[in-house]
Amino acid sequence: MSEPIKIQVSIFCEPCIICGSRPVIAQAKGKFIVRCGANPNHYQTPPGMVDIANWNKHNRREPDFTPNIGHLKQG
Ligand SMILES: [Zn+2]
Repeated sequence: MSEPIKIQVSIFCEPCIICGSRPVIAQAKGKFIVRCGANPNHYQTPPGMVDIANWNKHNRREPDFTPNIGHLKQG
């Protein structure tokens, strides 16, 4: 069992959407998983390459959903 690898600070990654922890890289059978640094039950990327983009995609907070009211006329 190998220790999770810390991701360099220079690499941008979203904090865990559940607990706000910085993700770490875990290794499983020679494959890499990006997962929550605090809780392995939180989101983790599918085993394979280090896929921080995938992690970021799944841990990005949904932007406030503002319906398009551009056609709403005022005045
Ligand atoms: Zn977490």
